Amino acid sequence: MEHPFVPSRLAPVLSLTLATHLLMACPSTAQEITVFRDVAVVPMTSETVLDAQDVVTRGSEIVAISPTGSTPVPQKATVIDGEGMYLMPGLADMHIHLDTGWPVDPLALYVANGVTTVRDMAGSELLPPLRREVEKGARLGPNLLGTSPCVWGWETTPSRLVVEHKKMGYTAQKINSYLSPRDFRLVMRQVKRRDMYGVCHIPFRVGLDGVLEAKMDEIAHIEELVFEMADLDRNDPRLKRVETEPECIIEAFEKKFDTTMTAELLKEAVRPEAREMARKIRAANVTICTTLATTELVGQKVNNASGVWARDYGPYFPKRFRNAMKSGSDRHLVAFRGKEWAARLLFEMSRTVLEELKAAGVAMVLGTDAGPWRLGTAPGFAMHDELRILTENGLSPYEAIALGTRNAAKVDVAMKGKGDFGTIEVKKRADLILLDHNPLDDVSHIRNHRGVMVAGKRHPREQLDQAIALKN
Ligand SMILES: [Zn+2]
Repeated sequence: MEHPFVPSRLAPVLSLTLATHLLMACPSTAQEITVFRDVAVVPMTSETVLDAQDVVTRGSEIVAISPTGSTPVPQKATVIDGEGMYLMPGLADMHIHLDTGWPVDPLALYVANGVTTVRDMAGSELLPPLRREVEKGARLGPNLLGTSPCVWGWETTPSRLVVEHKKMGYTAQKINSYLSPRDFRLVMRQVKRRDMYGVCHIPFRVGLDGVLEAKMDEIAHIEELVFEMADLDRNDPRLKRVETEPECIIEAFEKKFDTTMTAELLKEAVRPEAREMARKIRAANVTICTTLATTELVGQKVNNASGVWARDYGPYFPKRFRNAMKSGSDRHLVAFRGKEWAARLLFEMSRTVLEELKAAGVAMVLGTDAGPWRLGTAPGFAMHDELRILTENGLSPYEAIALGTRNAAKVDVAMKGKGDFGTIEVKKRADLILLDHNPLDDVSHIRNHRGVMVAGKRHPREQLDQAIALKN
C-alpha cells in the first residue's frame, strides 16, 4: 500500500506456492511479469469499475485480468499490492509537436504525467530516432505515433508531397491552412488514392463545407471551427499569407460581435452556428481533435500573464518562453496587442463549440498541441489541463478520459496503426496508471498517480519525479 509499484513482500510466498501451476501457464521466458493484485480496474471499455481484480502483464502486454485470487500468480512475477487503488489505461495526447528547448526531456514529462502515447502532428525528424531509443529501453518515453510533415499551400505542387510522404512510409497526411481550393482538391485526391488518413486545419480559402465534402478524416483543433464563424471572405488575398491568422479573423470578429459582450452572452450568441456545424460534422463522420489547453493558455497569456506563472508546472516553462513573455515579444502577445479581447473570445467560443460537438455525438479525440517551446503548452502537464477543460464544459470524467484513451486508439487504427492501447483488456499494450482515487469521480486524481507502466515497464512515481526534477 505505502509503496505502490514496489514489489509487495507477498510476492515470493505467492510464487512459491503456485510454482507448479505457473510453469504450465507461462513457459519460461525472459519477459518480465507484473501482477497488480487486488486492484480496482477502470477498463475504459465502458463506464464501469471492476473491483478486486488481478491484472497480469507479461513483456509489453496485458495477459490476464481476473477476480483476485482466481488465477495463480505466475512464477517470478513482481506483485504490486493494489488494494484500495485504481488502475486505468495510460493516456494518449493525439496532438503534440516534438520539440527540444524544454528544461527536461519532454518525453519524460509525458510519461511522468501518465501520457503513454503521443502523436506528433508535423512529421518531426526527431521521431524515428527517438522511437528507436524508447523501444530499446535506452530512453524513458511514450509510444510515439506521427503524421507526415504538413503541406502548407505555398509549395509549387503540394499534391506531389503527399505521394512522397506515402513512399516515405507515412500513413497520415497533415494539411495546413493556406491551400487554394484547387491544390486542396489535388492533395485530397492523392490522400484518398493512396489510402492515407487526412488530418487538417480548415484551409481558409476552402472552408468547412469543402473539407467535409472531401471526406477529411480529422480536423486538428476545435479552434478551426471557431475560425469558421468569422465568416471570412474566401477571396481575400490576405488568406494566402501565413501572418493572416489571426489578423483577418480578429478583424472579422470585430465586425460580427460586440467585443465587450460577456462570456455568457457570447457563448449563446454563437450557439446556433456552432450547433449547425456540429450537425454537419456528425453527418460527415469527421473526428475533431480538441487542443483546448492551448486555446485557454493563449487567452491567459494575453489577458492574465500572472495566471500563466502561477500554473503548477510554471518552473518548467523554457527560459526563452519566459523571456519572450516578459519582453512582450511572445508571438501571441504581439498578435493580440490592442485586441486582447479576441484571445478571450476564441476560448469562450471554443467552449460552446465543444458543448455542441458533444451534444451532436461527434467523434472527438484528445490533443493539447503541447511541445513547441514558443507556445508554452507544457508536454504531459497539458494533459491534465485538457481533461479539466473538457469536464468543465459538459463532458463527464468518463467521456473526457475516453477521448484520450479508447478514442485515441480508434484514430490510430484509422491511421493504419495497431490501436493496441486505450483500454485495459487482454492483449492490449500494458500502458497503465496506478491511482489512489477513482478517476471517474474526478479527472484531477490522475495528476496524483502512484506510478505509470509503459509497454510493461514499471515506473514508480518517485522514479518519475526524479526523472523530471529540475536541475536548479
Ligand atoms: Zn499543432
